[in-house]
Amino acid sequence: AKAKGRGTACLFEPAMDETAEIRRAIERDLADALRQGLFEVHYQPLVNLGSNRITGVEALVRWRHPERGLISPATFIPVAEETGLIVALGEWVLNQACRDAVAWPEGISVAVNVSAVQLRNRTFAQTVLLALAASGLRADRLELEITESVLLDETEANLETLHLLRRTGIRISMDDFGTGYSSLTYLRRFPFDKMKIDRSFVQDAGKATEAGAIIRALVALGGSLGITTLVEGVETEEQLAAVRAEGCQEMQGFLFSRPRPAGEITAMLAAAREE
Ligand code: C2E
Ligand code: CA
Ligand code: CA
Ligand code: CA
Repeated sequence: AKAKGRGTACLFEPAMDETAEIRRAIERDLADALRQGLFEVHYQPLVNLGSNRITGVEALVRWRHPERGLISPATFIPVAEETGLIVALGEWVLNQACRDAVAWPEGISVAVNVSAVQLRNRTFAQTVLLALAASGLRADRLELEITESVLLDETEANLETLHLLRRTGIRISMDDFGTGYSSLTYLRRFPFDKMKIDRSFVQDAGKATEAGAIIRALVALGGSLGITTLVEGVETEEQLAAVRAEGCQEMQGFLFSRPRPAGEITAMLAAAREE
């Protein structure tokens, strides 16, 4: 703004300062919350559509704010990514998820979201392997969920890190599949284990629209590449029936269960085991 002359600078600088200040305040709040242990990891089941059984859970972070209650990650993850705090927060989530998952039955895996900022960090692979070692969780019970944005920058270095982690037995899922521009390109460049079809496709799936045809095509594509397909955001029986009809292997959504605290998930998994 400075280069644009005095008039412009006068108009815009106060607003920019204000934004920077608000950002600093949120950043400080987030850092404090992390130190004070105010973050919680909730877990949402991933269900196999053939057996109707839970195959794993996705770790989803929440901020238990003393005044504002439970805050959604959609509001603070972008800020944490901008400020870099996502590296520390992500490491905490990863360790918590691994510690929780060791207590669950052997067949249950845990999926952890990884942001581009984390993966770009040179110590990321080491962080993941340390979390496994510290918790005693087997590598093949951990899944890392990445979005396309993760691969957009510094692609070679990021791909190398993912290859390294995958060789240890960790599985890699492509999250929000179909929402970006180059999903198909990345399928060719990296051997993903799972494709999580974005929930925007499921919303109209029961209504004989293009969405159903796209899911069907993605399931066929996944099948021929040996990639598991999961549909996100299944909320109704009608959507479930449509997803089933398209041959999708796994589902996740409020219809089966909302994300829940670790204790409730532990009880749910124990009950499912006795069925
Ligand atoms: P995501 O990775 O796509 O996670 C799935 C989101 O969809 C979750 O929102 C989940 O609660 C929601 N969801 C699941 N089933 C349904 C459904 O049937 N209907 C609807 N409407 N929504 C459903 P949540 O927990 O609010 O998380 C939002 C996003 O925040 C996540 O989207 C992910 O991008 C990010 N996030 C959450 N936890 C972490 C984390 O630990 N690290 C990073 N980097 N990002 C995270
Ligand atoms: Ca995810
Ligand atoms: Ca998703
Ligand atoms: Ca998302």
